[in-house]
Amino acid sequence: MTRVINGRAIAAEMNERAARSAAGLRERGIVPTLAVVLATDDEGAAGYVRSIGRAAAKTGIDCRVHRLPLPVPAGRQSIADKLSELSADPGVHGISCQAPLPDGLALAAVGAGIAVRKDVDGANPASLGMLAAGLPGAFPPATAAAVMEILRHEHVPLRGRRAVVVGRSAVVGKPTALLLLAANATVTICHSRTRDLAEVCQEADVLVVAMGQPEMVDADYVAPGAVVIYVGINPAAQGGLVGDVNAAAMAGIAAAVTPVPGGVGPVTTAQLLSHTIRAARAAAVGPGLPATQGPHW
Ligand code: NDP
Repeated sequence: MTRVINGRAIAAEMNERAARSAAGLRERGIVPTLAVVLATDDEGAAGYVRSIGRAAAKTGIDCRVHRLPLPVPAGRQSIADKLSELSADPGVHGISCQAPLPDGLALAAVGAGIAVRKDVDGANPASLGMLAAGLPGAFPPATAAAVMEILRHEHVPLRGRRAVVVGRSAVVGKPTALLLLAANATVTICHSRTRDLAEVCQEADVLVVAMGQPEMVDADYVAPGAVVIYVGINPAAQGGLVGDVNAAAMAGIAAAVTPVPGGVGPVTTAQLLSHTIRAARAAAVGPGLPATQGPHW
């Protein structure tokens, strides 16, 4: 029997905790505040930002969306200027810059403008470097943290287990692999040049798929009893959304699987809010870096 992991329920629990913390901060005169920079007219990004705004409003976090005029004048420089301005603003605790960026700019190219203590979506390459070096004080990208939160919530053992991550982007694949490593899993990272992908995936006790290829991962990629978390979200030919995994093919093989929608997505939003609360708390206790979420295994 394959368990379908309920990301919305996990997110609801996280948001309740965030709401309690936000209320405590507000009692002390601190309004936890997340600034979201949007430099695109991409409908997917706009929809995601709206969902962050709705969840933030329910949890008592002030979410301020900064839409840059389009086309973004002086592209990279004006985004970097906005991120620097928000980093210096004491009323802002967390900053998230939404992709896609104009002119094919990589998030890492502008992310350095976000102060590490406010980098609640792990966009600054320094945050990724700290994660790689095992240093406390930086936030991982919310999606990578969401994958770990789902595994923690589902009591999936990681110590000494084989984890395979498909995808090596700086925002999903690499940080997820680093977090799994920190949790003492034995980690393999795959990408578009990996040979025999299905065979490598079959070695996984935990398979995390973040490649953006509709339903490519089929029954022959998954070992019996594996836990399958899929991050990729793709428009379906017949409308709606599909993941990177053929969910129907997982039934009876995987021990547990996340759905799309309702899997990693809502937990990612909740994670972004939880990071914002932690950043606001850290700001309240004075200069220094936020506490990093430690491994739970
Ligand atoms: P990128 O396009 O930056 O990275 C995709 C990765 O997948 C690359 O490393 C690429 O390899 C690899 N890949 C692509 N095709 C294949 C293939 N056929 N076989 C093996 N590997 C392949 O995407 P992101 O990491 O930003 O996002 C991945 C997916 O996750 C997307 O669908 C995105 O929409 C979704 N997403 C979902 C979020 C959520 O909260 N649910 C948040 C963020 C992203 P190579 O490096 O060799 O090109």
